[in-house]
Amino acid sequence: MSGNFFADLHAVFEENASRPCFIFSRGGGWTFADLEERIGQACGVLLRSGVKPGSRVVAQVAKSAEAIALYLACLRIGAVYVPLNTAYTSAEVQYFLDDADAALFVCDPDGTDVVAAGTLTLDAEGEGSFTQTMAHTEPFTGIVARSKNDVAAIVYTSGTTGRSKGAMLTHENLRTNAVSLSAVWGWQERDVLLHALPIFHVHGLFIALHCALLGGTTTIFMPKFDMEEMLLWLPRSTVLMGVPTFYTRLLANPEFSKDTAKAIRVFISGSAPLTEQTFAEFEARTGQKILERYGMSETIINTSNPLDGERLAGTVGFALPGVETRVADDAGNALAADEVGMIEVRGQNVFAGYWQMPEKTAEELRDDGWFITGDLGTQGSDGRLSIVGRSKDLIISGGYNVYPKEVEQVIDEISGVQESAVFGVPHADFGEAVVVAVVARPDAAVVDIAVIDAALDGKLARFKQPKIVLNLTELPRNAMGKVQKNVLRDTHADLFAGQAS
Ligand code: AMP
Repeated sequence: MSGNFFADLHAVFEENASRPCFIFSRGGGWTFADLEERIGQACGVLLRSGVKPGSRVVAQVAKSAEAIALYLACLRIGAVYVPLNTAYTSAEVQYFLDDADAALFVCDPDGTDVVAAGTLTLDAEGEGSFTQTMAHTEPFTGIVARSKNDVAAIVYTSGTTGRSKGAMLTHENLRTNAVSLSAVWGWQERDVLLHALPIFHVHGLFIALHCALLGGTTTIFMPKFDMEEMLLWLPRSTVLMGVPTFYTRLLANPEFSKDTAKAIRVFISGSAPLTEQTFAEFEARTGQKILERYGMSETIINTSNPLDGERLAGTVGFALPGVETRVADDAGNALAADEVGMIEVRGQNVFAGYWQMPEKTAEELRDDGWFITGDLGTQGSDGRLSIVGRSKDLIISGGYNVYPKEVEQVIDEISGVQESAVFGVPHADFGEAVVVAVVARPDAAVVDIAVIDAALDGKLARFKQPKIVLNLTELPRNAMGKVQKNVLRDTHADLFAGQAS
């Protein structure tokens, strides 16, 4: 059996040739035979451009079905696909092209002014563009043999400090995770995936899409999250995979009702924490419990709440088949149940290391296979995992550990608070001081420190209570909906500057 994950997908595409693969939310669509044809043509272009097995193909392209064909073509010819966030600037793109030593760079015609050795634009119109060339190129219909441990993709982590690291994912990582997720989420022949996520990240490109492709099922392909289109297509879909902001946005719209949601058999959330409040409000509105799962660029998906068992708000569920999770101390000793420590993951989903960064790899991947995730959490005696926050977001105030999530949960319950982010800033006396940024509900008054104090008193120890409250209109977030605490920390670093201890 070939180790090339594309071989598995190819068998499904052939079996389901005449079925709809993509329905474009703004009209038109592709069958699996159409997809297969485009992949063959894209392979032809890649080969003509000198791409070889193992070559890196870097793509910074808008979301399109052609971009999916490009990704799958890379798998097929054994090249390594390197997706880039469309928000990256030319200077950032240049770093990735150099770092990945790209054989080919595919970009939008107006997207970037980077000039790389081999550059093709992914555009239906332009002369010499990828799509134009595709139409005139002899398709390649073979499948290049790969071993299961060969690298299929390099996903650059959205690192906020230092150089961004390229996580090398193998064909086996992609295959086993797709197979496990299809089983754990009970993928069915009649499933219709509503796809509104970006495709430069593991969530949209691998997690969501692989389930649909491997199942030979239909994907409603939406260029991006658009409320009107969501309301139109939800009743015609059965699975939604989203980031928590999808769910808060839906809830903010009074037109989103139990009726709109009733065709969906499972709403799945990940990439950032889903608050207990959103979980509860969603259940109250639709009667459905959002299924939260936990993953990352280096390991795709680690854990998931169960499809049939109890979905618990504030937890990310149990390890997938073939995956182990533990909560450990710095030396890698497993802690007792419910103790807070570093979440570590081992198994068939764990990446092969960081591209050309052996020291970084050695720092985060233990010799016995455990990957140190950088997330703090607890694990119950039943194996259920909960995330407390990123270790770098941990606040140490007066020598005591403050886990931001614990404080945010209490503040989020205050009426008038829409959401909050707790973070630490330098303080002469305490080392770090606890600060909270609050976004008030549209019709609510500004939340002052007296309100926060009153809500927290008696519930949380004094050292955990914020010293300052900042009222913001929104929290800084990245494309995957993660609150950027580093931005909050940097912007407000001087809050206590000049205060004598
Ligand atoms: P990325 O590599 O961009 O996918 O980011 C991975 C990080 O997202 C993880 O290490 C977690 O910090 C965070 N994350 C993913 N899923 C969840 C979740 N369900 N709850 C809380 N944090 C999450």
